[in-house]
Amino acid sequence: MREQLAELLEQGRSALMAADTADALQQARVALLGKKGSMTGIMKGMGRMTAEERPVIGALANKIKVELEALFEERAAIVQQQEMQQRLASERIDVTLPGRTHARGSKHPVTLVTEEICDIFASLGFGVEEGPEVEQDFYNFEALNMPKDHPARDMQDTFYINDDVVLRTHTSPVQIRAMLKHAPPVRVIAPGTVYRRDSDITHTPMFHQIEGFLVDRHITFGDLKGVLTTFITQFFGKNVGVRFRPSFFPFTEPSAEVDIQCVICGGSGCRVCKKSGWLEILGSGMIDPEVFKSVNYDSEKYSGFAFGMGIERIAMLKYGVNDLRLFFENDVRFLQQF
Ligand SMILES: [Zn+2]
Repeated sequence: MREQLAELLEQGRSALMAADTADALQQARVALLGKKGSMTGIMKGMGRMTAEERPVIGALANKIKVELEALFEERAAIVQQQEMQQRLASERIDVTLPGRTHARGSKHPVTLVTEEICDIFASLGFGVEEGPEVEQDFYNFEALNMPKDHPARDMQDTFYINDDVVLRTHTSPVQIRAMLKHAPPVRVIAPGTVYRRDSDITHTPMFHQIEGFLVDRHITFGDLKGVLTTFITQFFGKNVGVRFRPSFFPFTEPSAEVDIQCVICGGSGCRVCKKSGWLEILGSGMIDPEVFKSVNYDSEKYSGFAFGMGIERIAMLKYGVNDLRLFFENDVRFLQQF
């Protein structure tokens, strides 16, 4: 048994020295000194010993046990230290590496143009107003001098929700709502989404308009020309040519359409301007006294002008985009260019 114990000590030493993880070390200890381990196996032979031998072997076994336990503790401390070092090395954070950034979106060209137009008019003293997209017939047509039997209603293919409620066909109803809310003088710019039953290369069922109007004492067509020319030269550049053409709208009298010199060909004539050298960009006019009646403004005392334009059309001209539908397809390759 002495030899067996001596052998156990040797084996135990090398097993503990070889174990290089906390788990392996624990397994080696159990195999040596555990309830079913080698030491227990050897000590079962004690029964066959004489009374003199027993205490001697017992003391020897105890000494070996103490020695192996001490070695285990020593190794455990070393292995724990090693494992800690490994963990620190593998979980180390390199603060000098570049961080992970989130891909940032950009503003849609329609938003960019809307903001730029609003900024220019804000600098001229206009305030921004908004109104509902689901609108009552009264605000969309009736109050704008287009009663139910008015032929001008045929000009617009309207989405009707019922006889009295529509998806607004223009931003002009905001004009009515703003005038009912505020007494003159008023200066308002109203951007928003509008709807018409129309779909081709230059029309989409949903698009954006911006409407503006100004009402005060002694407002003349000269004010209209001054304000709109200021806007156009700020937006398209000082040297762009501007012209006013007589036109017709139910809610303004007199009315004018405003053209700018073609931004593509500079006025010499191209496919975009249909060889005319001019591009229509907005409609405008002096507010019809009939409109003032429906909002209880005194047309003897006050006068004003209104104007409206399609935001996509302005964006197409500004950025040289030739298909309106690109604005609504939301192709990232298109949107990233702005
Ligand atoms: Zn042109």
